[in-house]
Amino acid sequence: MLKMPEPSADALRNFPRALGALRAILPDTSIISTREELRAYECDALTAYRQTPLAVLLPESAQQISRILGVCAAEGINIVPRGAGTSLSGGSLPLADGVVIGLSKLNRILDIDFQNRTVTAQSGVSNLAITHAVQARGYFYAPDPSSQIVCSIGGNLAENSGGVHCLKYGLTTNNVLGAEVVLPGGEIVRVGGKRLEHDVYDLLGVLTGSEGLLGIVTEVTVRILPKPERAAALLAAFDSIEAAGACVAAIIGRGVIPAGMEIMDRVTTNAAEDYCGVGYPRDAEAVLILEIDGSESEIAEELGEVRAAADECGAKSVTEARDEPTRVRLWAGRKAAFSAVGRLAPDYYCVDGTIPRRELASVLARMRELARAHGLEVANVFHAGDGNLHPLILYDANVPGQLEKAEALGADILRLCVERGGVLTGEHGVGVEKRDLMGTMFSEVDLAQQQRVKCAFDPDGRLNPGKVFPVLHRCAELGRVHVHAGRTRFAELPRF
Ligand SMILES: Cc1cc2nc3c(=O)[nH]c(=O)nc-3n(C[C@H](O)[C@H](O)[C@H](O)COP(=O)(O)OP(=O)(O)OC[C@H]3O[C@@H](n4cnc5c(N)ncnc54)[C@H](O)[C@@H]3O)c2cc1C
Repeated sequence: MLKMPEPSADALRNFPRALGALRAILPDTSIISTREELRAYECDALTAYRQTPLAVLLPESAQQISRILGVCAAEGINIVPRGAGTSLSGGSLPLADGVVIGLSKLNRILDIDFQNRTVTAQSGVSNLAITHAVQARGYFYAPDPSSQIVCSIGGNLAENSGGVHCLKYGLTTNNVLGAEVVLPGGEIVRVGGKRLEHDVYDLLGVLTGSEGLLGIVTEVTVRILPKPERAAALLAAFDSIEAAGACVAAIIGRGVIPAGMEIMDRVTTNAAEDYCGVGYPRDAEAVLILEIDGSESEIAEELGEVRAAADECGAKSVTEARDEPTRVRLWAGRKAAFSAVGRLAPDYYCVDGTIPRRELASVLARMRELARAHGLEVANVFHAGDGNLHPLILYDANVPGQLEKAEALGADILRLCVERGGVLTGEHGVGVEKRDLMGTMFSEVDLAQQQRVKCAFDPDGRLNPGKVFPVLHRCAELGRVHVHAGRTRFAELPRF
C-alpha cells in the first residue's frame, strides 16, 4: 500500500466554496470536476497508483495560476502541478484533498533567438516541439527523453529529465537558462535569463529537479545547439550483458564521449525486433548502440577507438550505420523499446537508478540474481554511458502479490545502486515511487535540510505534499534543532 498524507478535512469542506471562486478565474471549459472526466487524470505513467483529485484546472496564463494559488491558500487546498502526466515516479499523482493544475494550455513558443541561441517557451510546450521550431535553421534542443513527443518542457525542468543525448550534451539542468515561476503565495518571479551565469544564488538550479514542490513553472528558456556536421551510429553485439557494460567503461576510458550510448539485453532486443524489425541480432545477449557526432575526421578517429574497445571486450560483431536511413533505423528499435517491452507482459515497472560506470558489469550480474530470487523477469534497456539503469520489471497486476513482488525487486535494485556508490534516480525523479527509499541515501539531517529549502518556497506545504520526502515536518518544527515532532500522518492509498 502506498501511504499518502491523510486528506485535510478543511480542504474537503471548503472545496465547494473554492470552486465558486475558481469559476470567477477560469471559464467552465477549463475546469474539470465530473467524476467521469477526472478519471483521465487519476494517475501519471506510474499507473499502479491512482487518486481522483477534487478538480483539474487548465489555466492559460501565469496570472490565472497566481489567482488560483490565492484561492487554494485561502481555502487550505493542496495543488499538484501536471505537465503531460508522463512521470514514471508518480510526481503528478493527484491528491484527494487537492486540485491538479494542468499546464497543457500553456502551449506557445514565445521567442526564438538565434543570435543568443535560445528558445523561450511556455511550460506546456512539448520537448520535441522546441527542436521542431528550430531545426529548419540547423539547430536542436539536446535533452531528448524517450517521451519527448508528449512530455512538456516544464515537466522536464521539474524532473531534470535526461535522454539518449545527455551523455554528451548534459541533462535539462545543463541546458536550461531561465524560467518564470509562480510561487505558492501567488508571486510571479523570473529566475535566470538568456545566459548561463547567475548573479546571486542559483535558484534555477534549485528549481530544476524540484518535482513540482517549490513553484509552478510557466515559462522556460533553453539553449539550443547547432546540429553537428554528421552523425554515425554503431551497434556492437555481445555474448553477455556484463561484457557490453565493460565495453561502455572501456570506450569512455579511451577518451571518447559518444552522443549517446545505450544497452539493450536479449529480452529487449528481441521485443524491439518483433515490434519494428530493424535488423538487430536476435542471438546476442546484449547489444550496445552508440552514436558519434561531429566532423568527418572526428567521427573517423572516434569510431576507430570504439571498434578497438569493442574488440578488446570480445564483441561478436560490430555493425556500422554508414548512411542516414540506416542510422535512423538502428535507433528506431531503441526508441520503441519501452513500447515493445510493453507487449511482453500485462504490466511493467520501470526502475531508474544510476551507478558509477565501472560498476556496470557487476551490478548487472547482481540484478540478474535478484530478479531470479524474486521470481520475476527483467528486461534491460538503459542509458549505459551515464550508468543510468532502467530495468523493466515484468509482472501482471491481476495476479495477486505480483505488484508487491515487482516493488520489492525494484527497491532491492535501487538499494544495490546506492550501495555501489550510485543514486536513487538518474532522471525519473523520486515522486512517490522512491520516496520511502530516500533514507537509504540521505540521513535525517540531510532530509531536514532539504525540507528547509522546501519551506523557504512553500511554508504551508501546499505544493505536491507526500512526494519526495518520506516524512513531512511542519516548517515551524524544522526551525528547531531536533526535528522529530510535527510529522504529517500518512494514510494508505489503495493500489490498482
Ligand atoms: C515511455 C516513457 C519514456 C520516458 N523516457 C524518459 C527518458 O528517456 N528520460 C527521462 O528523463 N524521462 C523519461 N520519462 C519520464 C517523463 O517523461 C519525464 O519525467 C518528463 O519530464 C515528465 O514530463 P511531463 O510533462 O509529463 O510531466 P508530469 O509527468 O506531468 O510531471 C512530472 C513532475 O513535474 C511536476 N511538474 C510538471 N510540470 C510542472 C510545471 N510546469 N511546474 C512545476 N512542476 C511541474 C509534476 O508535479 C510532477 O512532479 C519517460 C516516460 C515515459 C512514459
